[in-house]
Amino acid sequence: MVAMDTPAVLFRACPLCGRDNRAEPVFAAYTPGSWDLKRCPDCDLVYLETIPDYAATAEELAWDHTFVAWHAARDRAPAQRVLSKVGRSIRIGTHVVRKRRRMDELIATLAAPGPVLDVGCGKGSQLAKLPERYIPFGIEISAGQAAYARELVRARGGDILVQPGATGLRQFPAGFFTGIMMRSYLEHEGQPREALQGAAHALAADGVLVIKVPNFGSLNRQVFGRRWCGFRFPDHMNYFTPDTLVRLCRESGLAVRSFPWLDRLPTSDNMWLVAGRA
Ligand SMILES: [Zn+2]
Repeated sequence: MVAMDTPAVLFRACPLCGRDNRAEPVFAAYTPGSWDLKRCPDCDLVYLETIPDYAATAEELAWDHTFVAWHAARDRAPAQRVLSKVGRSIRIGTHVVRKRRRMDELIATLAAPGPVLDVGCGKGSQLAKLPERYIPFGIEISAGQAAYARELVRARGGDILVQPGATGLRQFPAGFFTGIMMRSYLEHEGQPREALQGAAHALAADGVLVIKVPNFGSLNRQVFGRRWCGFRFPDHMNYFTPDTLVRLCRESGLAVRSFPWLDRLPTSDNMWLVAGRA
């Protein structure tokens, strides 16, 4: 095995509006160590300006390596969990959401039978929950995790691509999928615009894209600052608010079909958005 050098680092202009923010100061309140967090003065997107390349993301910084450390930190912040529960109780109390939503349940409710894709599918646990009327496909950057997922989906006629999401989505024929899932993915993607454009390409005319991402506009982030559970450097590269998420979707060839107003409030730690082709 070849010893790993320091991972190659890539510069990014603003992933939402394309502005070169190298001359702008870092977002000092939250900037960690060697990763430069920026808040774009034109479009307000918060993002890491320098990111590790995809190879490093796949092998060195994969979620399964960092999960334990993150979970330990979260366990030390019980007050954050209380605030999350308050937000959830408000949502449940208004009957907008009957219970905690699950990605597979949303797909089963919204997507027509046919091929369904999970972008950043990991070991395929989400694909395994899809009802039989769907043919499960996945894109996964980690070859090790993709091997697990492939075993699961091939028996049902699907397959797994080992690629970054942004390029992998382009490998499928136009209009191929009745449903695409992006759960805990878009905040990790170095090229979120290209990924959403790829989803617009790969979705059927009446297909649905379901996105779940952390809400940078959440009360928890405002109260807990850099101890907010949504900060994970450099795993999380894009920090969306309701406004920046909607704008990126619209500018990527997608139309927002559903974005519950309660998800846009600061009490919501996570945002669920359903989009289709524009
Ligand atoms: Zn911008």
